[in-house]
Amino acid sequence: MFIKQCDLCKKTIKEKEESIRVSICYPFSEFMFCAKCGEPIKKILKNKKMIKKD
Ligand SMILES: [Zn+2]
Repeated sequence: MFIKQCDLCKKTIKEKEESIRVSICYPFSEFMFCAKCGEPIKKILKNKKMIKKD
């Protein structure tokens, strides 16, 4: 089973919990954040279209 973890606070993101994935430059350079940590990042990157949501 694949366990998602927030790259910022290292909290495990549960299956039903919202997670935010951010790709920077390359498809392989992807970071995952929990909803709490991802919210401000999402706002910053919104205009750059770097946000992908699960
Ligand atoms: Zn987090």
